[in-house]
Amino acid sequence: MKNNSLTRKQSPKRQKVFKGSGISMSTAIGKAHVINSGLGQVPKYHVSDTDVPNELKRFRNAVAKAQKQLARLKAKTSSLTDTTAEELELLLDAHAAMLVSTRMLLGIEKNIAKLNLNAEAALEIVVEEIARGFEKVKDAYLAARVQDIKDVGSRILRQLMKTPYQVYSKIPKGSIIVAQELSPADTALMDPASIAGLITEQGGSDGHTAIMARSLNIPAVLGVTKILSKISDGDTIIVDGDNGRVIVSPDHDTLEEFKRKIEARRRLNRQLTRLRSLPAITQDGVLVGMQANIELARDVEEAIHAGAEGIGLLRTEFMFLNRSSAPTEEDQYQTLKTIVTEMSGRPVTIRTFDLSTDNLPQSKNIRTNKSSNPLLGLRAVRLSLRQQRLFEIQLSAILRASIHGETRILLPMVSSIHQVREVKKILRRVHSRLQKQDKISTDKVPPLGAMIEVPGAALIADSIIQEVDFLAIGTNDLTMYTLAIDREDEQVSHLFNPLHPAVLQLIQITLQAAHRSKKPVSICGEIAGDPRFAPLLIGLGVRELSMTSQNLPRVKQRIRALKTGPATRRAMAILDQTDEDQVQRLLDDFNDGI
Ligand code: PEP
Ligand code: MG
Repeated sequence: MKNNSLTRKQSPKRQKVFKGSGISMSTAIGKAHVINSGLGQVPKYHVSDTDVPNELKRFRNAVAKAQKQLARLKAKTSSLTDTTAEELELLLDAHAAMLVSTRMLLGIEKNIAKLNLNAEAALEIVVEEIARGFEKVKDAYLAARVQDIKDVGSRILRQLMKTPYQVYSKIPKGSIIVAQELSPADTALMDPASIAGLITEQGGSDGHTAIMARSLNIPAVLGVTKILSKISDGDTIIVDGDNGRVIVSPDHDTLEEFKRKIEARRRLNRQLTRLRSLPAITQDGVLVGMQANIELARDVEEAIHAGAEGIGLLRTEFMFLNRSSAPTEEDQYQTLKTIVTEMSGRPVTIRTFDLSTDNLPQSKNIRTNKSSNPLLGLRAVRLSLRQQRLFEIQLSAILRASIHGETRILLPMVSSIHQVREVKKILRRVHSRLQKQDKISTDKVPPLGAMIEVPGAALIADSIIQEVDFLAIGTNDLTMYTLAIDREDEQVSHLFNPLHPAVLQLIQITLQAAHRSKKPVSICGEIAGDPRFAPLLIGLGVRELSMTSQNLPRVKQRIRALKTGPATRRAMAILDQTDEDQVQRLLDDFNDGI
């Protein structure tokens, strides 16, 4: 008997495997740290006794901001029809009433002060307690009020979470974060030295969260449906990014196999860093430019370490995230100057902000209505042209930073030549203003480029290139818009395929337009960083690639093993295909033949 119960107690949990979209070439083993997301990704940590007054202050500030927000909303109701306005006013009044000395607020403050909890965690506990209490109530009207409590809770939470917090630094080292969803901004706050991996229920491997994880070198599998209910804090987890698998409570053999894999990869990475200073040159002497995609100034060091010859894509929108207002010109200038200076003469391609109405920091001067579909709404260069003050501030910062090294300006999501012409006018205006203010002395304006990531833009690449100095093909969005697949939506991520013949045709049209005009063109979507795509891209005539730094050595290794003749013949055969599976087979065969 005794033995049996001992065996039961010690018997390990059964291994379970879940599927999602993995970030390739990334594997990790760690302990699960589940982020319960009833109200979003709510951070949980303890605050010291001395920090309690500050935490209470932070909470009260958030409540005050939420009150102001409700008052503003109420003022807006005057533009609605009488009945709608009345209904809404009643609701807003009820919400506002919950924000003054209620049981909810007092309960939250008590949790902060007595349990030393951070405000977000304290709030979540109270909202859940109240909601549970309401569930028992038989009255349908009262039971429905639970939603009001949750809404008010979310409103305060949103205010709290606008303040940057170092939540992920409080998580035990080596943890694997398991969350319903992680925004790119959340991910940007993570320290790769302490977070071993990421798993989310929502999102795809080509979305911005995945891009951020890749750039931080954090192994990840995204879009693993319903995993949160199957995992507990502390479970051992393997993140198998190569195969898009999550293995929970792995058995002994699986665990050992993955430990060996991780060790072998470390060895390979060490070998690959030797390629750092060698050129990406094919067997027959064709040189390919290798640049890095970066998001933040902290990524520069890794780009240089990986042997990047420049920055092919600096996603400046990341400077606007995790803050309640847009960065000032000086903030942006300082960051850009650091990046340009640290790249010491290597070119830096600064993409103007690719923000949309759902992640643009709102303030007194910046007001946009939320788009019902931000991906098709006021995004990227469209937003810049609508919010010209914000755009001019960024252009000023870029022009000032351009004095410190070689820079280029890149416009995201161009869809018409008018947009480019309009930007050129603004750029000239900002430039001459800076000259008048003696902030810059040079007449030289950095080269201006357009991203080709909308099918319509690819089809008129011949005209767009007449207006700009270079093109950069963003295959992530190009695939998304060509195939009508949201790259962040795990439900359709299996259909997201840059090898689709339609996408390849558009890439080809763009490359030919650039070649005809003898202007540079690069590929900076995720496919540029995948060594399996290198023969196809080189075969199509691409001579400039920009990718996340960690992939640079592997892609370089693949290019150094290539001959352009066979690669071109295979690329032409691929372009003749109408079936994406056949494209994949032709590419796989070619890669297997090395
Ligand atoms: C792209 O769309 O391919 C691209 C490089 O831009 P982003 O991934 O930032 O949208
Ligand atoms: Mg894009």
